[in-house]
Amino acid sequence: MDRTRTKGLGKKCLALKKSNTKLKRLVYFIPIFCIIIACNDEIKVVEEVIVEEIPDIIEEYGYRFNDFEVVKDTVRSGDTFGAILSRYGVSNKTILEVATRFKDTFDVRKIVVGKPYVVLNSKDSSNRAQVFIYEKNRIEYAVVDIIDSLRCYNGRKPITFKEKFASGIITSSLSQTMDEQNLGPNMTDRLATIYAWTVNFFHLQKGDRFKVVYTERFINDTIPAGLEGIKAAYFEHRGKPLYSFNYTIDTVNAIPEYYDKAADNLRRAFLTAPVKFSRISSRYNLNRRIKYYGYKLRPHRGTDFAAPIGTPILATADGVVSKSERRGGNGNYVKIRHNGTYDTQYLHMKKRKAKVGEYVSQGEVIGWVGMTGNTGGPHVCYRFWKNGKEVDPFKQDLPLSKPLPKEYQQDYFNYILPLSEQLDCISYP
Ligand SMILES: [Zn+2]
Repeated sequence: MDRTRTKGLGKKCLALKKSNTKLKRLVYFIPIFCIIIACNDEIKVVEEVIVEEIPDIIEEYGYRFNDFEVVKDTVRSGDTFGAILSRYGVSNKTILEVATRFKDTFDVRKIVVGKPYVVLNSKDSSNRAQVFIYEKNRIEYAVVDIIDSLRCYNGRKPITFKEKFASGIITSSLSQTMDEQNLGPNMTDRLATIYAWTVNFFHLQKGDRFKVVYTERFINDTIPAGLEGIKAAYFEHRGKPLYSFNYTIDTVNAIPEYYDKAADNLRRAFLTAPVKFSRISSRYNLNRRIKYYGYKLRPHRGTDFAAPIGTPILATADGVVSKSERRGGNGNYVKIRHNGTYDTQYLHMKKRKAKVGEYVSQGEVIGWVGMTGNTGGPHVCYRFWKNGKEVDPFKQDLPLSKPLPKEYQQDYFNYILPLSEQLDCISYP
């Protein structure tokens, strides 16, 4: 992602890039300097100094690998903990002791074929195993240490974070553009969540674009271990810029919120859709006429979102479940009372996951897309009620979530200033 293109970037962006180029310049200087020395006869001596190569110190899992003969392997089919360790001269007594005394720390019967392990053997003639390390997963590992007395414990590889940036211009879908930029599905999902209230992802336009400043996790500083979080993002939808900055006030519960440049919350009281990444197959339309019914007036008081069977259906806002049943043309459906004004209803579910009287929060799964009741294909018919009347949610001026409290705003504006410059400086691929 380290793009060095500066075309079209302002002064500020160049200043941000300067710190990077300084290092590169230093690298160029070194070889030039050496050539000068070589050309000068008087200091030829310098050339004859033999530099002894000092081996790098390799430290992993808290052990200095240089002190051992290191064997790295993976558990093969038919391998047992006992078989592996006896191969490296460990006595049956010790093997049995690990298997029994340390069962709660490391259950040796649970070693899995294909998982990597490391054996640290002594460098002396006995060449016996001193330490056995088994990788339970990418981060956690178990250690059996028999250097002095027998010890067994679990460890975790150190996780570090690196700040990165990315950008993309949408040609067909957000996920495809993300794929092209080698950004995983996790990034697609997070970005879609941040903008779930402001962007219709099933209605993206060719040319919509995004930029993200994000933090990535690394194991041992080098192995990528997934997305930690998005710090700031920019989404241009139909030419309209939407900035978002992650800012946490509630440090106890660490609830991250995204606010825009004016410190308004990006969340709305309602999600724009009850399913992620779906398309509207039929809009709210009181004048709908259907060929099948001889073009008779068949008003459609809901919005249909087509999605594969089994797609999770989300509550579009916090509320209390007022109905959850299977009935006639509705099929399996759930209705939620949000407040004195709004209700929402979700039809044709394959299965419901909400009981009457239950409190559900925005984005919570309340069921799964199906085709129960009167429907021609898998979709969720989303009905939006305002003061007891079914209305088109896309024609409503829906309320915003709470903005950032006044007392935090100055700090917030100071915090987002460099981030917003950073976003502006990211160029598109
Ligand atoms: Zn419908």
